[in-house]
Amino acid sequence: MKAEIFSIGTELLMGELTDTNGSWISAQLPALGIQMQWLSIIGDDLNMLAEAFQRGLQRSDIIFTTGGLGPTQDDLTREAVAKALGETPVVQQEVVDNLEKYFQGRGMVMPPRNIKQAHLIPSAQFILNPNGTAPGWWSEQNGKIIVNMPGPPGEMHPMWENQVAPRLRQIVNDEVTITRNIKTLGMSEAAVDEVISEFFGKENPYLGIYSKADGIHLRVIARAKDEASARNMIQPVEDAIVDRLGPYIWGYDDETPEESAGQALHEQGQTLATMESCTGGFLANSITDVAHSSSYYKGGVVAYTNQLKIASGVPAEIIEKHGASSAETAEAMAKAIREKLGADFGIGITGVAGPDSLEGKPAGQIYIAIAGPDEVKGFEMRVPPRRIVIKRRASNTALTELRKMITAMVGAKQA
Ligand code: ATP
Ligand code: MG
Repeated sequence: MKAEIFSIGTELLMGELTDTNGSWISAQLPALGIQMQWLSIIGDDLNMLAEAFQRGLQRSDIIFTTGGLGPTQDDLTREAVAKALGETPVVQQEVVDNLEKYFQGRGMVMPPRNIKQAHLIPSAQFILNPNGTAPGWWSEQNGKIIVNMPGPPGEMHPMWENQVAPRLRQIVNDEVTITRNIKTLGMSEAAVDEVISEFFGKENPYLGIYSKADGIHLRVIARAKDEASARNMIQPVEDAIVDRLGPYIWGYDDETPEESAGQALHEQGQTLATMESCTGGFLANSITDVAHSSSYYKGGVVAYTNQLKIASGVPAEIIEKHGASSAETAEAMAKAIREKLGADFGIGITGVAGPDSLEGKPAGQIYIAIAGPDEVKGFEMRVPPRRIVIKRRASNTALTELRKMITAMVGAKQA
């Protein structure tokens, strides 16, 4: 089944809003066996939209849209579908009643313009939207399908997951494409490539290698008649990768470094404290992005000045002797915060954020230390001297290395 997506809204065309709906939906299609062909951004213009729908219906089996389902005059998606299909929208009284109840439940009276959202054409059915006022439309005419969903991702994602995807699973019988992402850190791209070289160059399952801000990712992609068969094709490749790169693997699929480290801490019942300088709180922010992080994260200090580093337990002599940005200071930061907060692990990060070099060290030079119950590990890296890159790379490395350290400790205890 061939598909295309329209991300609808003049805001998108003006560059005021970035289209994340298009890429989100695109990412859902391979596993459903739907082949994505076109992704377009179209403004809130009735004629342009109707023309786009007509063209889309000629070249694709299904069109997905987001946006333009609201009650205001510039929301024209429904009108454009009606025009393209040559049908006239008629108001549906029970939907008006439901909308009225929705507003009453919020202590409001329904504005008359919301009646627009209760219109339907003969070829369309409503897709319920429990998270907003705009119901979606599922239209079918001459074997072609149009699925209209609301723009806000918080409304569109649950509508997709609960209603659109299950319906697609019933009607699509094409080959599905399943992807498994395996994330490593600590080995170079060339070294990873060499260790598993015999799996490259094949078409199905396909193995790709990608360098990302949080390490080297390996992506295994398989096509088969159904998901289970595709997973069976991926398994032997995944097993070989785990076998050969095990200690370097820190996560799978969508997992982030903070989720991966958080899970390891949670599973082992261990706690973490942080002292960071050049990352300015980015590390603490990432850690606390994860739900239930309070069960393992004791807190952290943004020790941006030497004064605060010293007040937080870093010996002044170490900073004097080795400099604020040094492996020794990072180690002292990790140990000091671990001790001060009585945590199992302490992370220290210091470095030169730039743009200027500092104490003879270049911008982008980073020192990370992780102090655990048995040992202190240090990591040095040099990254492009852009502040956000430094923050992200330092934070990701600290968390993925922490994950690896915990996994290795558990492995050593079991052995
Ligand atoms: P509403 O009833 O909220 O107006 P709608 O279906 O009319 O819903 P739009 O008015 O087009 O949707 O967009 C509403 C909001 O949804 C936008 O301001 C934006 O926050 C989000 N949004 C819309 N389209 C996209 C998109 N392609 N990617 C990401 N967010 C989007
Ligand atoms: Mg709108």
